[in-house]
Amino acid sequence: MERGCPKGGGEDKKKKEMKNPKSVTLKNKRKATKGECPECGTKMFRIGG
Ligand SMILES: [Zn+2]
Repeated sequence: MERGCPKGGGEDKKKKEMKNPKSVTLKNKRKATKGECPECGTKMFRIGG
């Protein structure tokens, strides 16, 4: 499952990489990536780092 920019709607959601991406590990040991939308700066979160 993947979640992109909540403000951007469809397009913003899938395109490009995030800004300032950081790898994190979730409580359930899954890897994820946190960052910001390069266009609007909204915080983004993606499972699967
Ligand atoms: Zn955005």
